[in-house]
Amino acid sequence: MTQPFRGTYDQLPELAARQQYIVDAARVQASLYGYDLVSTPIFEYADVFCRSLGESSDIVSKEMFVFDDRHGDKLVLRPEGTAGIMRAILSNKLTSQLPEKYFYAGPMFRYERPQKGRFRQFHQIGVEFIGESMPGSDVEVISVAWDLFERLGLTQKVELQINSLGDSESRQAYRDVLVTYFSDLKDQLSEDSKLRLEKNPLRILDSKDPGDRVLIESAPNLKDYLNDISQEFLGSVLEGLGILKIPYVLNPHLVRGLDYYCHTAFEFVTDCLGSHSAVLAGGRYDSLAQLMGHKEPIPSIGWASGIERLNLLMDQEISSIRPISIIPIGPTAETQVLVIAQWLRREGLKVILSHHGNLKSHMKYANRINAAKAILLGDTELENHTAIVKCLDRGTQQEVGLSQLVQYLKASS
Ligand code: ATP
Ligand code: MG
Repeated sequence: MTQPFRGTYDQLPELAARQQYIVDAARVQASLYGYDLVSTPIFEYADVFCRSLGESSDIVSKEMFVFDDRHGDKLVLRPEGTAGIMRAILSNKLTSQLPEKYFYAGPMFRYERPQKGRFRQFHQIGVEFIGESMPGSDVEVISVAWDLFERLGLTQKVELQINSLGDSESRQAYRDVLVTYFSDLKDQLSEDSKLRLEKNPLRILDSKDPGDRVLIESAPNLKDYLNDISQEFLGSVLEGLGILKIPYVLNPHLVRGLDYYCHTAFEFVTDCLGSHSAVLAGGRYDSLAQLMGHKEPIPSIGWASGIERLNLLMDQEISSIRPISIIPIGPTAETQVLVIAQWLRREGLKVILSHHGNLKSHMKYANRINAAKAILLGDTELENHTAIVKCLDRGTQQEVGLSQLVQYLKASS
């Protein structure tokens, strides 16, 4: 009981600050494009995910945390954000006011084998552009992602890979040749991929099994089976990326693990996290709404990114405001510092009261919390309406009148 559950971890202050920095950067970046923050429940009816992601997807078939509640309802801790957001669009009857542009951030849950950058409770940020079919919206969401990597100083560490899954006609044509290709090699496929061959052959291309990967290298390319509409769509997306100078490589074998994708599929991958690994992934999901029972498609595109992986990529320090430590010396000062601390906080200063101990232990505490300054208040200072301000970096100190204190602290911070 003294350890957290396998694949989960605590975010102590330093890590929490880094991860929150990423969330804040993403929220600000997305808002510049008009994507507003939304939040949906952390658990949903199991159907929200089972029906939409596809029974044979890795997530539904083996990674979901499923449980029955006291009334026997089957619930799931959300493994991803998109299905819940589409559910919210339908539940809140927002289909007549589309398009909507949303940003979200929060925990996701997958029953996976934990390893570097892979957890059972992890955290995603993501954007969804719902109700827009034009390729310009694909370019836009990719551009939000690119700007975020720029903001985090990560553009040199990631590569944008892009592919088109085409429309359903193109995918059907491709599926047929893929089945022929892999059926001849069935004996050499992993057990998982043998099943995929029957249920959803495109998903073999997403396999991480090294044996499968060798066979995938020589598999037919989806690109060669795209019909005119699909080719034109891809062409427009690539043209948009070119205009915005967002570098990309075409990866003809890139497919997404879920059933609902069409046309654009993309990933930002990195080789800085050990094995070739995706930090951000997305795609167009025009048929998701129908899978959830809506009568027509709602053309949409979005992406999600794992905060833990972004954090592993970022090597810069996150600067935080250093506090000011207030140290009372003597019983009168102990009550007076409460009022002074409150006053300074109302002036917008970050002030931490030191509650306990002698001067030495107060100073030790001030150093531990990385205070920039310490304010010492004793009987003499209180009588004179002054305070001693110590600069902890330089080791200097100065007596400052209380009426000048705020100005002095702000000027020298
Ligand atoms: P992977 O191929 O690594 O399993 P995925 O295809 O399952 O990823 P998505 O469902 O596309 O991932 O999720 C988008 C992003 O969320 C990933 O690119 C990754 O950054 C992050 N992510 C996914 N699963 C995990 C996990 N278990 N732990 C940490 N981050 C994750
Ligand atoms: Mg996965």
